[in-house]
Amino acid sequence: MNRITGALTGLLLAFALVAAGAEGTQESGTPATRGGGRGNGAGRGAGNGLGPGGGAETDAQFQAQLDAILAGVPVSDLTAAERDTLLAMAEEEKLARDVYAKLYAVWNLPVFNNISASEQQHLDSLVSLLARYGVKDSVSALPAGRFASAETKALYDRLVASGSGSLGAALTVGATIEDLDIADLQAAVAATDNDDLKIVYQNLMKGSRNHMRSFYGQLERQGGEYRAQYVSDAYLARILELNRETAVIDDPDYRL
Ligand code: MN
Ligand code: MN
Repeated sequence: MNRITGALTGLLLAFALVAAGAEGTQESGTPATRGGGRGNGAGRGAGNGLGPGGGAETDAQFQAQLDAILAGVPVSDLTAAERDTLLAMAEEEKLARDVYAKLYAVWNLPVFNNISASEQQHLDSLVSLLARYGVKDSVSALPAGRFASAETKALYDRLVASGSGSLGAALTVGATIEDLDIADLQAAVAATDNDDLKIVYQNLMKGSRNHMRSFYGQLERQGGEYRAQYVSDAYLARILELNRETAVIDDPDYRL
């Protein structure tokens, strides 16, 4: 929890910088002008975010394949630290889901709706893990924008406020959330020896990399730019040089 709390503190600082430098791109966010974004030829850029966010069929297939993999992995002991990380990651996925849903309501840009749906899938995967270990789910039933942690609630409010300022700021909020999420998932993988936890974290991380590709690509087309705040510069560059990842990861020690 400390690591995430610390990262969130940094995130708040980052937003002040982002908001100050954000491009005024409101006209690009109107429904009339953004509709043709899909498949505009940019290597990583489905313009509307459908690729990384995945459609309903892809999400259903994802969960089915992930369940099949987990069925073959024995349940291990869960330490208190592993439990806390699991709950913290669930809250972080909910945060992402709720922020993107809110920013979709503000900007009506499909990428936010699609990726919010993907975050619901990620949250569902973690809720399944909580059930697998008999841990009470204190996260997923809370209404949108409500969180058990006061820090997460404060962060949610700041992210929504920042992302409501301009479309560029909203896309930067997206990239920042994914940056943080990837870094926290990397730490979560490194801090457990349970293969089922690692496999789920790996697949959430893969989803986050796809989300990063989408937000980054859209931000770039808005004339904005994004620099890594939580993952290394090299890791962000690696993410962006590769195309969208589709396969379900079954290797608990997978490295991009
Ligand atoms: Mn996610
Ligand atoms: Mn994400």
